[in-house]
Amino acid sequence: MSEKQARFYESVQQNFDKAAALTDIPKGLLEQIKVCNAVYQMKFPVKIGNSFQVIEAYRVQHSHHRLPTKGGIRFSHLVNQEEVMALATLMTYKCALVDVPFGGAKGGVKISPRKYDVEALEKITRRYTVELIRKNFIGPGTDVPAPDYGTGPREMAWILDTYQQMKTGEIDSAGCVTGKPVSQNGIRGRTEATGRGVFYGLREFCEQEKTMKSIGLEKGMAGKTMVIQGLGNVGTYTGTISQEEGDCIIVGVSEIEGTIVNPKGIDIAKLVKYRQKNKSIIGFPGTKKLKERDDWVGIDCDILVPAALESQIHKGNAKKIKAKIIGEAANGPVTKQAEDILLKMGVAIIPDMYINAGGVTVSYFEWLKNLSHMRFGRMQKRFDHNAYDRIVGLVEKTTGKKIGAKEREFLTRGADEEDLVKSGLEETMINSFHQIYDVYNRRKKVTDYRSAAFIVALNKIASDYTNLGVFP
Ligand code: NAD
Repeated sequence: MSEKQARFYESVQQNFDKAAALTDIPKGLLEQIKVCNAVYQMKFPVKIGNSFQVIEAYRVQHSHHRLPTKGGIRFSHLVNQEEVMALATLMTYKCALVDVPFGGAKGGVKISPRKYDVEALEKITRRYTVELIRKNFIGPGTDVPAPDYGTGPREMAWILDTYQQMKTGEIDSAGCVTGKPVSQNGIRGRTEATGRGVFYGLREFCEQEKTMKSIGLEKGMAGKTMVIQGLGNVGTYTGTISQEEGDCIIVGVSEIEGTIVNPKGIDIAKLVKYRQKNKSIIGFPGTKKLKERDDWVGIDCDILVPAALESQIHKGNAKKIKAKIIGEAANGPVTKQAEDILLKMGVAIIPDMYINAGGVTVSYFEWLKNLSHMRFGRMQKRFDHNAYDRIVGLVEKTTGKKIGAKEREFLTRGADEEDLVKSGLEETMINSFHQIYDVYNRRKKVTDYRSAAFIVALNKIASDYTNLGVFP
């Protein structure tokens, strides 16, 4: 295990201790909340070509205080037990924070997906799912995986299919995994949900005039400069949505192959297409390549968005940061030691457990859709449309003026699934932001947003345990 990964779990636990000391939660209950409830390490054989490979994998359920447990599956050669434990732990606090009624979990398969063809990846994913089924570590009421680093809708579809083959007749089986393709019982808006949530969270922060002034920035997201590390699922949607809906200027992007900058702005949608074609971001028109890939931390900008992996900002590079706001789109991108330095520098860190919670929020909507066996909006879309149409007709009749076809369509549209998902996500991100912001502003001893977020989450979890009667 690398030093960076060891620091991740340690950082999560140190952050917990810092915030826990500011609560009135009894010591024994804090200990129960802190530990991982179940850790399943597995090794299984998969035939790749003519030879067998032993695959190492994990599923960690951090907290059973609410069921099912929930959390993504990561495919990466860096996966190890402590990393999965750290990610599962964060999931518990994240769910509590955004009022998603699940315990936290996470899965990891120690492979580098780029080194396998699609057939081999399918074999590995299906075999991993069988292992989870055998140990009762997956199911709509027990543990519900989702995508994470290195996985996406395709892998979720394989998981669903394997589960349904082995659990024939289980009526709610579609809810055994989320992040599925829409055609396989997925939900519209899930793919971009995490990035969209990052945007809503950053936008809400930027709306707080007093706080923005205190860090030397003007209120509002429009015109703010942003740098993104990692152009995968989360980084891409954070970038495109921040550009299209927030009028942000993306001045730097970092990927495995290097870091590029353009102070005038980089069109993320075009960059993604360019990378698909050229297998690299380097050479994208109008941009300049920086000497070292890791130079992304020091680019002059307002908002820094690490959206790749944990421990990317550490004590060795924290001082180089010029950004005033860090939006932790990835899980655990800032180590505890780096955070101590950054807080002294006056940087506002919007913590992972809040800012990247859009994915689990929309996964929750998908799970609800699967249990209700019906698409959101099916019952009321037409009813709403007809009602709005009658109102517009009445306005026309009363005023004697005709409303244009385009305006009429806009005014009378009933909400479909995507509208409802977006609105549910926006509401969740705004509401949770103000819960954190309130604790940060009201409690003198709380001097950072991460501790404030922890306090909100821990109080909710403690109250759950107390209501369960486990801790009177
Ligand atoms: P992804 O695999 O889609 O993308 C990650 C990208 O980061 C890849 O393109 C990879 O090449 C790049 N990358 C890796 N190391 C890098 C480095 N050193 N420098 C620059 N780029 C690098 O993964 P994702 O789903 O976008 O997840 C990214 C992060 O967000 C992870 O920490 C994950 O746990 C977190 N997250 C993901 C979701 C989700 O819904 N997918 C939800 C919440 C949190």
